[in-house]
Amino acid sequence: MAADDYRYIIVGGGLAGASAVEGIREKDANGPVLLIGEEKYPPYDRPPLSKKLWLGKKKVEEIFIHDAGFYEKNGVTLALGAGVTDVDASAKSVRSSDGKQYRFGKLLIATGGSPKRLPIPGGDAEGICYYRYLNDYLRMRDDAREGGSAVVVGGGFIGSEIAAALVANKVSVTMVFPEGYLCSRVFPESLGRAVQDDYRSRGVGILSGDRPVSFGKKGNGFLTVTEKGARLESDILIVGIGMAPAAALAEKAGLLTGDGIVVDEYLRTSNPDIYAAGDNAFFPYQALGRAMRVEHWDNALNQGKQAGRNMAGAAEAYTYMPYFFSDLFDFGYEAVGEVSAGLETFADWQKENDTGVIYYLKDGIVRGVMMCNVWDKVEAARELIRKGGWAAPETLRGAIR
Ligand SMILES: Cc1cc2nc3c(=O)[nH]c(=O)nc-3n(C[C@H](O)[C@H](O)[C@H](O)COP(=O)(O)OP(=O)(O)OC[C@H]3O[C@@H](n4cnc5c(N)ncnc54)[C@H](O)[C@@H]3O)c2cc1C
Repeated sequence: MAADDYRYIIVGGGLAGASAVEGIREKDANGPVLLIGEEKYPPYDRPPLSKKLWLGKKKVEEIFIHDAGFYEKNGVTLALGAGVTDVDASAKSVRSSDGKQYRFGKLLIATGGSPKRLPIPGGDAEGICYYRYLNDYLRMRDDAREGGSAVVVGGGFIGSEIAAALVANKVSVTMVFPEGYLCSRVFPESLGRAVQDDYRSRGVGILSGDRPVSFGKKGNGFLTVTEKGARLESDILIVGIGMAPAAALAEKAGLLTGDGIVVDEYLRTSNPDIYAAGDNAFFPYQALGRAMRVEHWDNALNQGKQAGRNMAGAAEAYTYMPYFFSDLFDFGYEAVGEVSAGLETFADWQKENDTGVIYYLKDGIVRGVMMCNVWDKVEAARELIRKGGWAAPETLRGAIR
C-alpha cells in the first residue's frame, strides 16, 4: 500500500466522522484510517457551543470527542485545516484544498452542513455570525460583553439557545423571526407562547412575525432593519436560521443526492464503496417508515458508528431511533421520532407548559414524543412509537410519566 493509500478515508471531522472511527475499529483493528477535516480542530461536540460553554458548565478543552492520544493509539491519521474539494469515485481517490491526493478502499462523507445565510442587503457583511462552529463561539464569546447588546435572528433552537446563553452573560438580546412564537416547527402553540413569555420575562426583546430586510455596519456594531420598520442597533449580530446539508461534494462525484446524500439502510450511497452519515445523510428511518435527514447529535453519534462498522464489513442495517434534546433557560426536554408541530398533538402536563409529555400523532398513530422536564424516558417513548397502532389521544394520558 502506498503512503497515501488508506483502507478507510473519512471526510468531515465532526461527530459522525469521529464515531465512524470507533465503528471501524470495532470490526477492523488495524486498517489504516485517514480523517480529513476542514476545520483546524479535531472532532468536537457542537451542543455545548450554544449551552454549557456559555454557562460555565464546560471548558473548551472538554468538548473534544476524543483526546489527542486516541487517534494515535488507533492508527488514525488526522489531516486537518484543509477540506476535500473532489471525490473521484471511479479512481477511488479524494483531493483536498491543499493539493494533496489520497486513495481509499472505503470512503465516508460526513460533512454535516453549513449555516443558511440571509440573501438580503448586507447579509454578507463582515462580522455577522452565522453560528455553527467552534470559531464562532470563540469569536462571540470575545465580543459578548456584560452590558452589551445583541440581535439574534432566528427563533428555532440555535437562535433560542444562543439568546438564552447571551442573557445568562448579561448581554441585552433582541430576537427577530418571522414565525408567531419560538420553536414553532416543533412546539405546539401554547407551549411555544409560554416559552416565549418566559423569555420576555427574562428581558429578551422578541420581534416575532418580523424579519430583517437589511443589515449594515453602525460604528463598531450593526444596524438591523426589519420588514415592519424596526431599526435595531447592536454590538453583535448572530444568525441561526437552520443549516443546509453539505452534499455538493457527493453531487459533483455523481452520487445520488436530494435533501442531502441519499443512502440505503446500510448507509451506503449510490456507490457501494462510499458511505454517508450524520446531518448530511438522507436515510431510511425504519421506525417511521420514511426517508429523511436528522440534524441531531444522537443521530450523528450512532449513524457515524454504524457507517464505520459497515465500511469494515459488518453489513448491519441502521435501525436506531435517535433522540434529541435542548435547554431553553429552565425548560429542558428530550424528544424522539417525528416531532413536528404540523402533526396532531396531545399534551399530558403534570405542570402546564413546564413538566409533562407531548405526543405527536398522525392518523391516530403516535409518531413522536417530547418529554418536557421529564427525564430518562426516551426508551419508553421509542417503544410507544415502534408499537404503532391507533391510540385515542386521551388514552395516552399517563403512558409516560
Ligand atoms: C450550536 C449547535 C448546537 C447544537 N445543539 C444540539 C442539541 O442540543 N441537541 C442535538 O441533538 N443536536 C444539537 N446540534 C446538532 C448536532 O451538533 C449535529 O447534529 C451534529 O454536529 C452533526 O454531526 P455531523 O458530524 O454530521 O456534522 P458536523 O458536526 O457539521 O461536522 C461536519 C464536519 O465536516 C467538516 N467538513 C465539511 N465539508 C468538508 C469537506 N469538504 N472536507 C473536509 N471536512 C469538511 C465541517 O467543517 C465539520 O467539521 C447542535 C448544533 C449546533 C451547530
